[in-house]
Amino acid sequence: MSGYRLDPLGEGVYDNEMVRVIPVRWLNLQEYQSKKIMVDHGVTVQRFFVADTSQDAMEAAKRLKAKEIVLKAQILAGGRGKGSFTSGLKGGVHLTKNPDDVGQLAKQMLGFNLITKQTAKEGVKVNKVMVAEALDIARETYLAILMDRACNGPVIIGSPQGGMDIEEVAATKPELIFKEVIDIFEGVRGDQALRMAANIGFKGPLQQQAAEQIQKLYSLFLKVDATQVEVNPFGETPDGQVVCFDAKINFDDNAEFRQKDIFSQDDISESDPLETEAAKYDLKYIGMDGNIACFVNGAGLAMATCDIIDLHGGKPANFLDLGGGVQENQVYQAFKLLTADPRVEAILVNIFGGIVNCAIIANGITKACHELKLKVPLVVRLEGTNVTEAKRILSESGLPIISARDLEDAAKKAVANVAPK
Ligand code: ADP
Ligand code: MG
Repeated sequence: MSGYRLDPLGEGVYDNEMVRVIPVRWLNLQEYQSKKIMVDHGVTVQRFFVADTSQDAMEAAKRLKAKEIVLKAQILAGGRGKGSFTSGLKGGVHLTKNPDDVGQLAKQMLGFNLITKQTAKEGVKVNKVMVAEALDIARETYLAILMDRACNGPVIIGSPQGGMDIEEVAATKPELIFKEVIDIFEGVRGDQALRMAANIGFKGPLQQQAAEQIQKLYSLFLKVDATQVEVNPFGETPDGQVVCFDAKINFDDNAEFRQKDIFSQDDISESDPLETEAAKYDLKYIGMDGNIACFVNGAGLAMATCDIIDLHGGKPANFLDLGGGVQENQVYQAFKLLTADPRVEAILVNIFGGIVNCAIIANGITKACHELKLKVPLVVRLEGTNVTEAKRILSESGLPIISARDLEDAAKKAVANVAPK
């Protein structure tokens, strides 16, 4: 089994490598965008500019008039510090004392792909760099606020050993991960913020300062309808400042109506164009690397379909989740998207009609197949609401549909109709 699973935090669906395959949230902000929001909420971040040419990066470095400058490639994936560029440059985060070096470094970042442990093999193209005042970091801690299903609300997670190896700390030293469960009605209490600050190693006056930053981060979390605010490193400088050096904010997409400004900043430059196109029609499309397209309703059914294809020796090329309340036009658009990927050699339709009316699906499929002149085999398994009518529509359509009794049969037939992968 490929082992897709629903994430316990409700963050989406992950595969067995913990790579998110169905994001619940679609909004993507770069680090510099998240940091602007943090500045607006009184959170301490270092001074910075954003540049998309090496010339601008160098000028920004001069304007900062800082003792030391940090240049950071802006991509949505983490692990940049330890990443490498297709230009040969090592490290997506560089420190230098000389503003003239910034131009040279930016030249080796902009337009090249940055490969990190969180990106695909080919990496992600860097279009922007952040030029910031570098500060000495005496200590790197980890701090995150997120919605936790197990606690029925927000939880603050912290570790005294933050920085680039946090995943390893979480795996090997779980006793160094601290948690504070927040009562959503009460907010973060002073003693909770102080206890977290102490747990993650802030001492003396720094403890109060860290606690204040935690409070401000929590009020930001609420104000912007975040589902997660992650600061790593949440650092301490030798001259006694608590600073958020890196930030990632995720937002609740149900709150789009009241966070219009934030949602209008969505950075889609790294998204799969097919996913973006699907979102226009309220469809969820996820691309994978096999050759069987899956047309399903519901994330759970999508996972089950991928797993059973895997079980029978096939590989899903993608899946498209129709969701509930579907209209015929969406079915058409869905087929158009599924067949846009040239690797697709067969389509497996697996619909369990509850809210979804199978007859609407059948009409949509018929129309789509005729208009798109479908060339690949189509295996269909329909079950549930109005299925008899749906089967009649399909059998009278004259289309060469391979019908399947159940999911197992459907998977076997789909796999039998493609080249082995
Ligand atoms: P990522 O998490 O993608 O690797 P970070 O922004 O966390 O990127 O940067 C990686 C490392 O670079 C940090 O852990 C920190 O050690 C260093 N760093 C980041 N920003 C600064 C800064 N402003 N001043 C000094 N060092 C920094
Ligand atoms: Mg980081």
